[in-house]
Order: sequence, then C-alpha cells, then structure tokens
Amino acid sequence: MGTFKAWVIEKTEGGQSLAFRDFDEADLMDGDVTVRVTHSTLNYKDGLALTGRSPVVRRFPMIPGIDFAGVVETSGHDEYKPGDPVVLTGWGVGETHLGAYGQKARVRGDWLVPLPDGLTPEQAMAVGTAGYTAMLCLMALDAHGVKPSDGPALVTGASGGVGSVAVALLARAGWHVIASTGRTGEGDYLKSLGAAEILDRAELEKPGRPLGKERWAAAVDAVGSQTLANVLSMTKADGAVAACGLAQGMDLPTSVAPFILRGVSLLGINSVTTPRDKRRAAWGRIARELDLGKLAAMTRTVELEEVGTMGDEILSGHVRGRTVVRVA
Ligand code: NDP
Repeated sequence: MGTFKAWVIEKTEGGQSLAFRDFDEADLMDGDVTVRVTHSTLNYKDGLALTGRSPVVRRFPMIPGIDFAGVVETSGHDEYKPGDPVVLTGWGVGETHLGAYGQKARVRGDWLVPLPDGLTPEQAMAVGTAGYTAMLCLMALDAHGVKPSDGPALVTGASGGVGSVAVALLARAGWHVIASTGRTGEGDYLKSLGAAEILDRAELEKPGRPLGKERWAAAVDAVGSQTLANVLSMTKADGAVAACGLAQGMDLPTSVAPFILRGVSLLGINSVTTPRDKRRAAWGRIARELDLGKLAAMTRTVELEEVGTMGDEILSGHVRGRTVVRVA
C-alpha cells in the first residue's frame, strides 16, 4: 500500500487546519470496497466542512468531500468487482467517514450505487448530492400527488446547486417554474434551465403573514428559515413543499395556519441515508429525465488542488449551479 494525495482536516486548539498532502492508504477506514476516485463535487455541506463554520466533521483527521464517482479497485462485496464504475453520496462520507477529496476512498459497498446507464462519471458528479437531492424533492412531490395542472412550482435558492437542478427537473416534468433568487442578474441563466418566472428572494426572506396570497401548488426549498415560512404561507390549498436546505438558516418561524387552514404539507428530504431501492430509483430517474445539455450549462469543473479554498465561496452564495472536482 502506498500514499495518495488528499485534502486533510486536522483538529487544532483554535479550531481546524486544512492541508493538501500525502495520505497513507493504510490509514483509510474500514470498508469492503476501495475506489479510485475520479470526480467529486462542491456542495454547501462541503463548504461547512472546509471552513469549519458548522461542526459537520466529527472525526479527525478527516478527508472532506461528501460525494464521489470512481472505479472499484478492490472489492469484498458481492455486487462490485474491480473496474466497476460507481457513485457515492451521503452516509456520513466526508463527515464521520474519510471522504472524497482524495485519490482513494474505502467505503461499505452497500453505500455505493452503480454508475447509472447514460451518465459519465463527470456527469454523475455534476448532479452530485445537490442534484440527487433535487430529484428526491421531485419524487416526494410526486408521491404526495401534487401535479403541474394544480399550479406553479416554486424553487428557492434557484441559482445554487439544488436549485438549478430542481428548476431543470421540474420544468422537464411539465411544471410552470417560479425561480426565487437573490441574484436577479441570473434571470437569463434560470430561464435557460426552464424557469418561466423569476422571483426576487427579498420578497420571501423577511417576516410575513401567517397566510398570504396563494401563489404556488408545490415548492422545493433549499433555504429554510423565514423563506420557508413564507413559502408555506403562500402555498395553495392541499399543496406541498419539499424542504431540503438551510442556506438562510436552520430555524422555521412559521405557524400552524398553512397546515390546518389550507391542508398544506411539509415534506422533509434527507439525502444522506436514503434506502437502497429509493436511492437507485432516484439515480435512474436522473439519468432518464435530466437534460444533459442543461446539466452542462449549469456546471463548471475545478481541479482537486483548487477545491480546498472554495468553502467560503459556496457558503457566501457566490457559486452558480454545480461544481465538479476533477480528482484523476
Ligand atoms: P448552494 O450554495 O449551491 O445553493 C444555495 C442557494 O441558496 C444559493 O445559491 C442562494 O441562491 C441561496 N442562498 C444562499 N444564502 C442565502 C440566504 N442567506 N438567504 C436566502 N437564500 C440564500 O448550496 P447547495 O445547492 O449545495 O445546497 C442548498 C441547501 O440544501 C444547503 O442548505 C444544503 O445544506 C442543503 N442540502 C440538503 C440536503 C439534504 O439531504 N437535506 C442535501 C443537499 C443539500 P440564490 O442566489 O439563487 O438566491
């Protein structure tokens, strides 16, 4: 066993340190599949880990990076053999289990998904945790029974990773998409992804009324806090809101009014521990339903060496769409 290049977070007296250095393969954690990582991505949670702004890293040293695509090198798992292309999101990788910002990863085979037919490893990571989460939101809205003929669908944090993929997926599914963004200069970008209307997020981020004018039948919310409260208060009767994010904040200063007076449903989305069948179904739908031209238009690629300093950029809301990290 040798060494490989990785970003490594160490605990220090004042907080944490981050360095790009050699990591000993013998120090990888337990797992029955070792993967040569080819691509990873930059997600909001990666920003929290890289900067230490929120305690998402709970084991030191830690290789951050919550998702990867790669090729199986060695496997003791029935389903995988050397050479198989695989994808991983979630399961605490990059938080409690050594993660994706390195050339090697050793994980439980049960956490992996075979690279979906029709996607390259780079495209799978252009989707990444953020895009996969957007699909889970769409699936939750579908399962609830809300449909495009019921009214528009709102996406908050629309210029971000979850938001950009959600706009493309909802538009493809036939929804009239209202894209809420603080970057109104990105209107043309969001329309190119399928948004029919742009809403200035300033309209949603301040305290509002318990019940507002009914404006959308469905919503994907990546923002939380006051924004989510306002999204709920303006959701049409019997509509549904899939809540997956906290870019504005973790709190939810709402009332029961939308729930008991309009029958609005709040659907929670957790991408980290999604069971295997649902996980595979989501990736299958992504491969079939996401327009790859739009995916390319929302994606930029950086090298592994560059990603260590990009945490602040995503946390400050300055990253548009998705960022693929080329590892090998
Ligand atoms: P991004 O940073 O790419 O997107 C977040 C977007 O939210 C920004 O682009 C911005 O969009 C908007 N935003 C940022 N700050 C604020 C603010 N203070 N008030 C209102 N809007 C704001 O992150 P991701 O797309 O990777 O993740 C989005 C959220 O979803 C994160 O909170 C993340 O933790 C969460 N998430 C949760 C998952 C789960 O399993 N539940 C999985 C994946 C992500 P704009 O400029 O267009 O307004």
